Amino acid sequence: MESIAAQLRETRQHIAAAAESAGRSAADVILVAVAKTHPAEAVAAALAAGQTVFGENRVQEAQGKYPALQRAHPDLRLHLIGPLQTNKVKDAVALFDVIQTVDREKLARALATEMARQNRKLELYVQVNIGEEPQKAGIAPRDADAFIALCRNELGLTIAGLMCIPPAEHQAAPYFALLREIAARNGLSGLSMGMSGDYESAIRLGATLVRVGTAIFGRREYPAKDVAAN
Ligand SMILES: *Cc1c(COP(=O)(O)O)cnc(C)c1O
Repeated sequence: MESIAAQLRETRQHIAAAAESAGRSAADVILVAVAKTHPAEAVAAALAAGQTVFGENRVQEAQGKYPALQRAHPDLRLHLIGPLQTNKVKDAVALFDVIQTVDREKLARALATEMARQNRKLELYVQVNIGEEPQKAGIAPRDADAFIALCRNELGLTIAGLMCIPPAEHQAAPYFALLREIAARNGLSGLSMGMSGDYESAIRLGATLVRVGTAIFGRREYPAKDVAAN
């Protein structure tokens, strides 16, 4: 747990250096500490080291880990970064502050309805399947403009930005640049891109949120059913 504080410190230093080298302010890059598969104790250790923003990829796992931590730390902000099924929307709206994986009309509609019902306004990101990979979630790049317009105009949703997970086997930079281009032409300032292996590149290309797990919490044992999503 001591190493979590040290690895957080190191990650923050790398973020600051990458931002500075791009002529950006480190304050414009939010570090989302991705704690999936790690226990609540690991999240508590990061909170003790000053980290307040966390990411999880499964609603059920997050429900077991966060409610007590949220009561103890009202400034904790929880991001959902994994696929969301519509039958979990009610639980997700109650628990999370940010949903980064809005990627289809049915889900966007369910979120609009449920946020109104619970009187909770979550921050929403549209996930783009930037490498057009069949096994990955996200709206196709060519459908992104129309989907964003539907979310805004028809459903009255405020979209904060775009999120992507580039293909693992390629250089990420061209995909980050493409996400930035789609965001710019839609007037969106939020860009969630960059993970442990490539967040510095993402920051140079404009990331406002980086999602870092392994570099902070160490290696994960993947539950088999999540392999495709990662
Ligand atoms: C797990 C995960 C991350 C963090 O990945 P690391 O390589 O461990 O930093 C980021 N984004 C998403 C969507 C993830 O599922």
